[in-house]
Amino acid sequence: MNVLSVTSELYPLIKTGGLADVAGALPLALTTHDVTTKTLVPGYPVVMRAIGKAVKVLDYTDLLGESAAVLEVEHGGLRILVLDAPAYFDRPGGPYVDENGVDYPDNWQRFAALSRVGADIAGGAIADWKPDLVHLHDWQAALTPVYMRYDPTPEVPSIFTIHNIAFQGNFSTAIFPGLRLPPHAYWESLEYYGGLSFMKAGLRTAHAISTVSPSYAEEILTPEFGMGMQGLIASRAEDLYGIINGIDAVTWNPATDPMIAETYSAATLKRRKASRNALCAHFGLEEDDGPIFCIISRLTWQKGMDIVVELADEIAAMGGKLAILGSGDTSLEQGLMAAAGRNPGRIGMTIGYNEPLSHLMQAGADALLVPSRFEPCGLTQLYALRYGCIPVVARTGGLHDTIINANEVALAANVATGLQFSPVTAEGLRHALRRTFRLFADRKLWSAMQKQGMKSDVSWGRSGARYADLYASLLSKGH
Ligand code: ADP
Repeated sequence: MNVLSVTSELYPLIKTGGLADVAGALPLALTTHDVTTKTLVPGYPVVMRAIGKAVKVLDYTDLLGESAAVLEVEHGGLRILVLDAPAYFDRPGGPYVDENGVDYPDNWQRFAALSRVGADIAGGAIADWKPDLVHLHDWQAALTPVYMRYDPTPEVPSIFTIHNIAFQGNFSTAIFPGLRLPPHAYWESLEYYGGLSFMKAGLRTAHAISTVSPSYAEEILTPEFGMGMQGLIASRAEDLYGIINGIDAVTWNPATDPMIAETYSAATLKRRKASRNALCAHFGLEEDDGPIFCIISRLTWQKGMDIVVELADEIAAMGGKLAILGSGDTSLEQGLMAAAGRNPGRIGMTIGYNEPLSHLMQAGADALLVPSRFEPCGLTQLYALRYGCIPVVARTGGLHDTIINANEVALAANVATGLQFSPVTAEGLRHALRRTFRLFADRKLWSAMQKQGMKSDVSWGRSGARYADLYASLLSKGH
């Protein structure tokens, strides 16, 4: 089966979060199910630099007003179609924001262009290769099934995956003519509370909808988590699937990871000490026996970072240490930095994005804190499981589905892999921290939990098979 995947991020070429990891790992997992994936991704400067020599497979003189080309290349085992459109993507800054962190004003056009090309390829625009199915990721790719719906080409089945419903691609109706869709498409597919929404359009027009954990698939049917889309999603409940993400188990393997101080396995947990020491040196933490909590995250309200700001001093006062890697909201960055300043040797912080450091932290810290208010799947807790770093997580979405909470029953049965807490408040987290300190004091129990976590199946094996089944069922339905 041939699948076209359309995404705005793709590990290892361009990554701001979990979407990139999934878009990069799923095609590899699907090869064992006879699925050949080509991934369409924007030609941001980092992408263009990384791919080197590529073959031009498509040319545009007028892609929503700009010239563009599609280049094909193999990179890291992935077959990639790069949308080389300098007017849209050749700019400094990130994939979505400029150097000052401000959204590009033409994001609607940039990602409509990506979607337009996705639909063209689905319709057979590339000689020699036509997908049997298209898989769209998040709002940036969500207009692909909309264009497909109004194109005269034969229907190709489509799946739209929600990685985070908080990012919806909502814009003013003024952009509608620029999308070059027929006028009736506005009311049929795009209209959303007087404006228009790419996410809504994708949810409405794709043949199937998936999200990245079973719990999140249920949560987005509620007003609290659906963020305005819950009614529409409920109307499509029959076509909704929740499939948990796996991880790239080659890149994230403590037995072979070149980014950590010393490799180890569940049988040689003592060798984590080398990474613990390196982590302490990096963050300026004292090398005592207190537990080291780490955070590797976007620093946002979603991730509960305001609660960490509130409790940081208490973690230090309880004898713990905190190592933080991340960037995000300025006020949260400042709040955490201030806590680090007040607690030298106990709290350390690196602002920014640093892939090697994130590996070292998973290998050296004792516990990973993930106090998210909502979490579609979450990947950091899966890496933590693999690295023997105990996840302390909010009981929500994919965190709920992937961590076995250390309650009395789970501890007695020796199946616990981490701690869950609820509600996501300062009091909830405080209670979880106290439990963590108690468990950490019992070193035998702690290492049993580490070993149990390291045994968890966090690979793409099962989930890859579920996607393959879903693809097959859509094909057999004849969409
Ligand atoms: P989200 O996609 O909501 O940001 P996930 O947990 O699903 O959250 O995925 C986050 C991914 O980004 C993980 O691979 C994590 O290790 C990585 N990550 C987040 N912040 C940083 C950072 N500052 N430096 C390095 N990696 C980071």
